[in-house]
Amino acid sequence: MPTTSYAIALGSNRRGRHGSPEAEIAAALGALGGVVAVSPLLRTAPLGPSKRRFANAVALIESDETPPELLARLKAIERAFGRRRGRSWGARVIDLDIVLWSGGTWGEPGLTVPHAAFRARDFVLRPLLAVAPDWRDPVSGLRVRQLAARLGRLA
Ligand code: ADP
Ligand code: MG
Repeated sequence: MPTTSYAIALGSNRRGRHGSPEAEIAAALGALGGVVAVSPLLRTAPLGPSKRRFANAVALIESDETPPELLARLKAIERAFGRRRGRSWGARVIDLDIVLWSGGTWGEPGLTVPHAAFRARDFVLRPLLAVAPDWRDPVSGLRVRQLAARLGRLA
């Protein structure tokens, strides 16, 4: 029985074989499995040199996998969806990030949980606020609603 929860951030800014960025996110949710909650879809202007718009969402999933096991599966899904590695800011059919883990923190080369950048990313915090406002970030000690409010004040 799954004992572990994760918050997963999903992002897409390129059409893939499932269709629009929105369709890619819907398909990725199906591929993820164990989904217990999904935020509304957020459509945002792109960051960086890419001119494409993004669609973003956050899902809560239940899974028995450890963080590295889950990351390996997320990368396999990204590959299956046609994502090309090494272009962090470019067009991507799907990006799947581990944002939070009910087990607290995890740190190893190539995997940091909570995700190192999520506290500063509006396109993660806003959908996360919709599904897990009371989840406490083990690093800052702040709840998601507090992180979102703090980012809102900075903006
Ligand atoms: P980003 O998601 O930050 O835009 P990438 O998707 O290109 O950038 O990720 C680059 C690398 O970040 C991945 O190959 C992965 O090994 C690493 N990484 C570290 N922590 C995490 C995490 N919590 N979730 C997903 N990837 C992570
Ligand atoms: Mg990623």
